[in-house]
Amino acid sequence: MFAAIAEQARIARDLNATLLVAIDGRWIARRHSALVDALNAAERPAALVLADPQDPLANKGAVSGLRSLAGGAPHLSILRCDHGGLGAVAIGGGHAAMGLSTSTRHFVATGMKANRLVDNTARLFVRSVLDWYRAAEVAGWSSAGAQLGCLLQCCGGESLARYLDGDLDATWHNMNALADFGDFVLNADPDDRTAEFVNACRSAISRYGLAGIHGPASPKPQLTSWAFS
Ligand SMILES: [Zn+2]
Repeated sequence: MFAAIAEQARIARDLNATLLVAIDGRWIARRHSALVDALNAAERPAALVLADPQDPLANKGAVSGLRSLAGGAPHLSILRCDHGGLGAVAIGGGHAAMGLSTSTRHFVATGMKANRLVDNTARLFVRSVLDWYRAAEVAGWSSAGAQLGCLLQCCGGESLARYLDGDLDATWHNMNALADFGDFVLNADPDDRTAEFVNACRSAISRYGLAGIHGPASPKPQLTSWAFS
């Protein structure tokens, strides 16, 4: 892997281009110190695409590894990622490009098997709990009494449960909800950006498992890692 990075770095230097590397998410978790060294030795801005059949940042140690990379590698971009890319920007990374579908939120290399989906309803970025959920799950919480309206211009306060209707396209909502979280991170004072991001994750976690609300029960591993690692 490190030989491949060195080779790509040589090409990037020759072309005066950004070093672009697709990397197995487990390397972020286990070899981040060596990766920081390799990216610094490249002497080019670096762009990473994380590869994993599921959420690369759900792997144990992956968020800590990304924090280390974002703080230690020069002008790091995270491409084709989910909202975790904003965490990298909050820590000191230069850029994040977030995908709106599962196939553009991480990279699945040949030989990696993605899980087969059972629930095929729209995937929704739920701003209040900072994660992606299926419309069927959201509708279940709503029918149990949870208030899951979106106050942004995409929805004007209407419930996200309406996306259970397969004829409704959730793209505009997801773009707005991610952009709103992106604005929150980018508008924070750079000196406070990391703390603001972590606090936002902790606030989101406080909305899980609320007695009597019947909303989402427990946060996914990535969100927990951002909040408490
Ligand atoms: Zn919305």
